[in-house]
Amino acid sequence: MDGLCRRCGECCRKSSPTLHYEDIELIHRGIIPLKELYTLRAGQRVFDNIKGEVDYLKNELVKIKEKPGSHECIFFDHVSISCSIYEYRPLQCRVFFCEKPELLKELFSQKKPERQDIIKDSEMLKIIDAHNKRVDIKGFVRSVESLKGELDEPITELVLYDLHFREFIHHKLGIPSEELSFYFGTPLSDILRDYGLELEIRI
Ligand code: SF4
Ligand code: SF4
Repeated sequence: MDGLCRRCGECCRKSSPTLHYEDIELIHRGIIPLKELYTLRAGQRVFDNIKGEVDYLKNELVKIKEKPGSHECIFFDHVSISCSIYEYRPLQCRVFFCEKPELLKELFSQKKPERQDIIKDSEMLKIIDAHNKRVDIKGFVRSVESLKGELDEPITELVLYDLHFREFIHHKLGIPSEELSFYFGTPLSDILRDYGLELEIRI
């Protein structure tokens, strides 16, 4: 497979990989730091590259971040036009070859690791569980999609709660802000933006 790839980096510019169980070790060894990951929670609306359409996630996914304002993988190095962790690139990157997209289809159907498979700290898992229950993503997406016009109060309250929760965890527990989208998924304020909605936050 590697012999056929021209290593042009085109695929790395278009998207970042979703992690598989085989990749967890890369996190624990510090090759892929938590700050370079984010979580898509079950129920979130995503673009399904295989189906070529928008769908709702049935299971949680952990992905490598894209560079801000683009779909390019955070590990893609523009100068050398190469992957900065090539030797340790995730399974999806090792299997993918643009001329044989069918190779990836089998991987896509496999169960992927969730945050609970990666995080060893049981206290943090309890905090994530509490956040999941309070910030119910499926209910949130349903409410946003049924909005007729402006943001309503329950949605506004939940978005603010999510923001304050993250700030609290950052300041009180010392969790770096770059790791929060791994621990607690995409902020609701960002999801709102995907629907063309913006919350005006006054301080
Ligand atoms: S898989 Fe294809 S697009 Fe990706 S680096 Fe190789 S040749 Fe380029
Ligand atoms: S991890 Fe490396 S190989 Fe995989 S998409 Fe990112 S830059 Fe490309």
